[in-house]
This record gives sequence, structure tokens and C-alpha cells, in this order.
Amino acid sequence: MIDLRSDTVTQPTPEMRAAMARAEVGDDVYGEDPTVNQLESLAAEMTGHEAALFVASGTMGNLAAILAHCGRGDEVIMGDKAHTFLFEAGGISALGGVHSHQLPNQPDGSLRLTDIREAIRPDDPHFPVSRLITLENTHNRCGGTYQPPEYIQQVVDLARERGLRVHLDGARVFNAAAALGVPLAALTAPVDSVTFCLSKGLCAPVGSVLCGSQAFIARARRVRKMLGGGMRQAGVLAAAGLVALRTMPGRLHEDHRRARLLAEGLRQIAGVRLDEGSPATNMVFLTLEDEVPFAAREVATRLQQHGVRVGVVGARRFRLVTHYWIRDEDIAATVGAFRQALAAG
Ligand SMILES: *Cc1c(COP(=O)(O)O)cnc(C)c1O
Repeated sequence: MIDLRSDTVTQPTPEMRAAMARAEVGDDVYGEDPTVNQLESLAAEMTGHEAALFVASGTMGNLAAILAHCGRGDEVIMGDKAHTFLFEAGGISALGGVHSHQLPNQPDGSLRLTDIREAIRPDDPHFPVSRLITLENTHNRCGGTYQPPEYIQQVVDLARERGLRVHLDGARVFNAAAALGVPLAALTAPVDSVTFCLSKGLCAPVGSVLCGSQAFIARARRVRKMLGGGMRQAGVLAAAGLVALRTMPGRLHEDHRRARLLAEGLRQIAGVRLDEGSPATNMVFLTLEDEVPFAAREVATRLQQHGVRVGVVGARRFRLVTHYWIRDEDIAATVGAFRQALAAG
């Protein structure tokens, strides 16, 4: 199977499995797992923060971050296509009593500075307290698009001026850095906190890391415990994460190149329309033209019969994500499978 549904389907590499098997471990709730500690210090160093916290998932990282930044009734400003708004089960309100204020995401995944400025509440008992702005880079639902360091800095400057904090949902921030050709810290150091996923393009089986100041991470560590996310000999997982951090960021441009190859191939097929500018990184979004008599689900079923799995993200829309286990020949095979799936009456 050529599985393009997501980069979360990536299996650990043999090098990761070997590192997991020989990992030195301890009780991480006691702070005694040397491999987790090593992962956390490497993540802090790479992102330009004082401290870091290994968490079970990106969702847990964002939730722990927002609960560590905000109290009940506080407001967080985020995009209307933000992963945290759309795809995290409403955890910030269900579990944290945090109110979300959604602003329209622009095509590149950014929020307009003027929109943010207007969204920040004045000090008035009618209003919730504006506490936090969250950004997402790369932006998943906006097509794997990225925002440059200058933009991040502008948002941070605005937040500082108004006494707010900034959290970056950087599930795929390594992809953003690779696409921009900038060091990771150029995107992550200016913000107050950042999460990134080890288990997506970086190919590790489990986990995300939340980074920030010592004081912030201490609060987030308590929230993680509260959420049931305090793991014991988690070094077995962190060992794969260390291999991921050391070996994977430098190869992400290959996934981006294959996404471009895939887009070029699919663009030639009648009935398929690619988003303008797609792909920015490792995600290709495409829509079936009106003349195509099948729904996306039907096409996906046919593709599966040809050995290709794709993400269906709308009645006539797909998402295809390249990753470590997708080779050049898989790109050609996928384009061929699409051609056949759409031709079959
Ligand atoms: C995948 C993703 C998450 C959540 O990560 P999980 O590990 O699946 O919980 C958060 N934000 C963005 C932008 C993502 O793409």
C-alpha cells in the first residue's frame, strides 16, 4: 500500500527500533528517565527555549500549553481553521474552561495583525480576559502553508505590547523551517511556547514535545499529570524521538520535492484541480472538477483497489501527504492510479 493519508502513518525506522530496544530508562514522573531528559534538553536547545516536556501527542501538547497559559474564562485568539479549534475535541473549553475567539485564517495560514489587534479585549467586566494568541506553522487545513519568521515576530511584538502570550502549534514546524531554509529557532524562539510532533514527518512512533520557559514548563508538567499524561519508563519512546530529531529534519526537503512531483503529475489529469500554490510543503490538496461524476469517497475506494490510500477531506476534496516511506516510484504509481480511478466509468 502507498499510504498518503497523512505523515502520521509513518512507522519507526530500523534505527529507531534499535534505539528503543537499548534505551536507558527510569521513572519519568520522578524525573528519572535519562532518555526522556535527553530528548527534552535537545528539544529545548533546538527550539531556543529553556525547558521542554515530552507529551503523548500534539493534542496533549497544545492542551497542556493552553491550560498552563490560561485560567478558566480566559480567552485565546486562534484561527477558524486552527487544528486546536477544529480537531482537538474542544478540549480547551471542556477541560480548561478556556474561551476561544476565532479569526479568519488567511490563505497562508496566518491571522491578520489588524484582526488580532481588534480581537484583543479592553479591560471591561463584560469581556473575557484576552490571554493568549495561538499560531499554527505549517498550517494543516490551509494546505501545509507556512509563515516566515518576520510574521511570527510581528505577532509576538503585538502580543508583548498588549500583555498577551503567544503559543505556536508547530506540529510540522520542521517542515516550515525546511521550506523557508531557516534554522528552526528562527520560527520557534520568539514565541512563549511551542509544540512539535515527533510522530509525523519526523517518523517517530509516538509523542510530541512542548517547549517554553522553566516556569511555564513546570506548570505544564502539572497539567500533563492532571491529564493522565505522566508516563513512567517513557524513554523507550523518547529514544525514537531522539533519532527523529537527529536524523529527520535534514531530509524533509525530499518530502517537499516529492509533493511537488506528485502535484505536477496530478495536474495533468483532466477533472483534477489543485489548490493554487499547492504544495507549499508536504501536503497536496486537490478537488474534483464538476464534470467528474464521482464523489471523493468513491474515488478513494477505487484508488485503494490500485494500492493507494488518500485522505478524503470534503465531498470532492482530497489531501495527499508525502513522508519518509514514500519513494519516487510511489509518486508515479499514485498518478497512474488516479488516472485509472477517474477513467473508470
Ligand atoms: C496533527 C496535528 C496536531 C495534533 O497532533 P496529534 O499528535 O495527532 O494529537 C496538532 N496540530 C496540528 C497542526 C496537527 O497537524
